[in-house]
This record gives sequence, C-alpha cells and structure tokens, in this order.
Amino acid sequence: DKYKDGLSKTRNSFTSRLNDLVANYRTVDEDFFEELEEIMIQADVGFDTVMELVEELKMEVKRQNIKDTEGIRSVISQKLVDIYYDGEEPDELLNMQEDDLTVILFVGVNGVGKTTTIGKLAHQFKEDGKKVVLAAGDTFRAGAIEQLEVWGDRVGVDTIKHSEGSDPAAVMYDAVQSARAKKADVLICDTAGRLQNKVNLMKELEKVKRVIEREIPGAPHEVLLALDATTGQNAMTQAKIFKEATNVSGIVLTKLDGTAKGGIVLAIKKELGIPVKFVGLGEKMDDLQPFNAEKYVYGLFS
Ligand code: GDP
Repeated sequence: DKYKDGLSKTRNSFTSRLNDLVANYRTVDEDFFEELEEIMIQADVGFDTVMELVEELKMEVKRQNIKDTEGIRSVISQKLVDIYYDGEEPDELLNMQEDDLTVILFVGVNGVGKTTTIGKLAHQFKEDGKKVVLAAGDTFRAGAIEQLEVWGDRVGVDTIKHSEGSDPAAVMYDAVQSARAKKADVLICDTAGRLQNKVNLMKELEKVKRVIEREIPGAPHEVLLALDATTGQNAMTQAKIFKEATNVSGIVLTKLDGTAKGGIVLAIKKELGIPVKFVGLGEKMDDLQPFNAEKYVYGLFS
C-alpha cells in the first residue's frame, strides 16, 4: 500500500513511540499524558492542538472509566480525527466542474515541490481520462518554465508558456483561451513562489486571479498551496502568509515521505482551518495521494 509505505517514517517514529508509551505505562495517569504530549509535539502536531487533544482525552478517559493504557489507543485515534474535522463533514476532494473547464491555481514558495505536484496531479487527471493543460505562470524563477514543460512532456499534456520575465497574467489569459479551444477539462496553473515581498506576492496573485476570473466566472475553482512537510513550523508560517495573500482552498503537503513529523497535517487544519487535500509521498509521477484524515490517523496508530 503506497500510502502506508510512504508514511513509514512518520509511522515508525510516531507509532513505535506510542506503542512504547502504552507498554511502559500500565495506568493512564498524569505522567502518561505528559509523555503523550511530548511525543505529539515532537511529531509537529502543534502545541495548541496537542493541548486540546489531551484535555479531551482526559475527559473521555473519565467518562469511559478507562484505567489501562491499551484501552486508550482507539480513543486517541478517534479524538485526532474529530479534531481534524472539527464538526464539519469531509469536503469533496476538489471542486470539479462537470462538463466544463476546471481551473486549479497552484501557489507556494520555491523548492517546496510545486512543479512536481502539478506534474503528478496532471498525470492523475490524465489517468482518469481528462484532458489537461498546464500554464507556466512562474515567469520569474530561472528554469521554472522549462521544468514545468519537462513535466508536461513526461505526462503527455500541453504546456502554455511565454518567455522568462513576461507578465504571468498574460500567460494565464493565453492558457485559458488555449484550454477552451482544446476543450480541456482541467487547466493547472503554476505561479511564482517569491515570498520576499508580501505586497508583490499579493499583487501578482490578485492580478493572475483577476484575469482567470474575468475569462471564466467562478474560476479559479481551487487555489492549492504546496507546503513542504519536512520544514515543520516554517511550513506553518508560509501557510499563514499565503492565507493572507489569497484565499487558499486546500493544501498539498509534499515530502511527507521524508519526515517523521507527520503531525503537521493535523496542525495545519486545526490552526488555519485549511484542509489538506493531497499528500506527496515521493518524487515519482504516482507519488501523490488524496488525503483522508481517518485513514491517515488510523494508519499511524495501527
Ligand atoms: P518547486 O520549486 O516548488 O516547483 O519544487 P520542485 O517541484 O522542483 O521540487 C523540489 C524537489 O523536491 C525536487 O527534487 C522534487 O523531486 C522533490 N519533491 C517534490 N515532491 C516530493 C515528495 O512528495 N517527496 C519527495 N521525497 N520529494 C519531493
């Protein structure tokens, strides 16, 4: 199972530490909860989330009169899932337009795996029989256009591009026209990931979005933020900045295969209210999985 293999690092540390905890403490007492807190914080679950979880666990332990540590395993899993959904129903994975062009805008800082994710997602759509067009909207970083085109060629989809340094909004305009003319199902747009100047970032994203929206009312249908799971709190800071700059509809958490700190998934949803829609579990075309909190949490603690 790709999901399980890809998460082996997270599983190994998180799961084995939890198992040790359960084995070492026979009774559910203050010490037990303290160590549980530490394990979760080290796994990047996030301080506030951990505190809330432990409070709820304590109440649940009392309510169900759980005495031994074995009995608490499933309660922890259920509470983590509850915290993730926070009373909401799970969203549809993506806001896809039936029989019409769906536009997905990708945002994120350079190096987080944005281009790779666009390639992987294009591949998934293509496997589903959908016609895909890519828009090379990162006209700022040297090599970004070529890199996206390489992915496009690999997957077998067209990439719409202008020259380096050109106006990304003009690229988007052309890409929409081209996608329409080709009767494409999905247009996936790359954008520049410079964070040095928040005002510039905001302006550029706004302009790009305005062009897309003018051509297709209601678009972009998704704004997906790529975050690198291995960067921990840094990813959280980036998420906050992008949330201020534009209305992010979902997160793709990349490189989750490269970290033992998979708890960041829960922290992002809890602290920012943005759902994680996909996780990246490797560098290859097939290494992108839809995120499902229940499957994820129960995978960790099984
Ligand atoms: P961009 O600058 O955000 O477009 O980042 P790239 O797509 O170029 O990716 C940066 C590096 O991260 C590349 O070496 C990718 O192969 C690697 N990468 C991207 N996603 C993943 C992932 O899910 N897992 C792993 N292990 N590596 C990834």
